[in-house]
Amino acid sequence: MALIVQKYGGTSVGSVERIKAVADRVLKSRTGGNDIIAVVSAMAGETNRLFAIANQLCDAPDPRETDVLVATGEQVSAALLAIRLRAIGQPAISFLAHQLRIFTDSNHGRARIKSIDSESVLQALKQRNIVVVAGYHGVDAKGDVTTLGRGASDLTAVALAAALDADLCEIYTDVDGVYTADPNLCPNARKLDRISYDEMLELAGLGAKVLQHRSVEVAKRFNVPLMVRSSFSDIPGTWVGHEDQSMEDVLVAGVTLDQNQSKVTIVGVEDRPGVAAKIFGPIAAAGIVVDMIIQNVSADSRADMTFTVARADLKRALELVEVIARETGASGVRHEDQVAKVSVVGCGMRTHAGVAARMFEVLAKERINIEMIATSEIKVSVVVNNRYGELAVRALHDAFLGAGACGPPAGAS
Ligand code: ADP
Ligand code: ASP
Ligand code: MG
Repeated sequence: MALIVQKYGGTSVGSVERIKAVADRVLKSRTGGNDIIAVVSAMAGETNRLFAIANQLCDAPDPRETDVLVATGEQVSAALLAIRLRAIGQPAISFLAHQLRIFTDSNHGRARIKSIDSESVLQALKQRNIVVVAGYHGVDAKGDVTTLGRGASDLTAVALAAALDADLCEIYTDVDGVYTADPNLCPNARKLDRISYDEMLELAGLGAKVLQHRSVEVAKRFNVPLMVRSSFSDIPGTWVGHEDQSMEDVLVAGVTLDQNQSKVTIVGVEDRPGVAAKIFGPIAAAGIVVDMIIQNVSADSRADMTFTVARADLKRALELVEVIARETGASGVRHEDQVAKVSVVGCGMRTHAGVAARMFEVLAKERINIEMIATSEIKVSVVVNNRYGELAVRALHDAFLGAGACGPPAGAS
């Protein structure tokens, strides 16, 4: 007998037929006396629909009210699944975040979970209920509804699995598992049987939305055994866990595309100590995450400072940067919102050199210009014009992961 947390994404609960299928699957998982907690997302498209209505009423809808609005999608799915489970004779009870005391900070739209009180779940399980939880949201110290960021029903599931020390957390979605690239973008992508938390963290952070980034962070920190699989078939999915020797033998695990990026350049910044702090201090204080940064210094002691931010943050970043540019005597601000970040990720890069060089070669062959480059221990990312993002992913996937692709580069240590 095991405690299993299952999470069903938007497509998996996207219609009456799908909810019926999910209820059947939940029931099947109960075989052998397993305890099941089913975390659900809003029905496919619902969260976007709710955001769009708010945006028709106001350019910048109030964050507190927006959270009250968008959290309702998950509430609907949770109730519907519990209704169906009861209809087929299975005791079930749905819970919202305030009932489970999923406490968060007050950062509306991207709140962080502080604690979960497992008492009410345990009580409900003891009474042989299937516990259905509305994902994506929490409650702050004032009792206000908060949301945890887009895609964060994954996080609700993993955090519950961690809090309850579950034996397994299954993420049910519309693909068979984690692939070497988005299978909807790259027809040659292959499903991975296993992937390490670290690689999955990079993939998720770089655009592979199959798992929400922070959910992987929490899974790694609390050693939650994670399986990503399809709610449309019984095919075994992908295990996400700690790295082992065989994973290190893989040079590149995946290629990602993030099309939600934009690029800002402050032109002619004075090249002296303290200028970077003046520029990035106010941006950080506004809660805007800056990703890549490059600085080119020219002969006249002036520099161009270029950085990337999520496209959703571009407007606010530009407002701040225009002010900073004037204050620091820079000569101007430019921006480009049609950029994409393409990355290759793999633990093998720790021990094998040459991935970046090979990546640049492949892009050059496709005549794709690289605008920015960033590397870490297990990834190389480049910024390119968004027009070439998909082509870049396919070319890199073929080169590193396609049939007959290169292994570790020759002569690499
Ligand atoms: P859900 O609604 O179930 O949470 P998401 O749409 O958030 O599903 O995530 C699943 C989608 O992630 C897939 O349909 C696929 O297009 C996309 N995806 C991106 N990168 C990958 C990858 N490397 N492996 C699998 N799916 C990926
Ligand atoms: N419904 C939310 C979203 O669309 C959360 C989720 O699906 O995980 O972002
Ligand atoms: Mg998702």
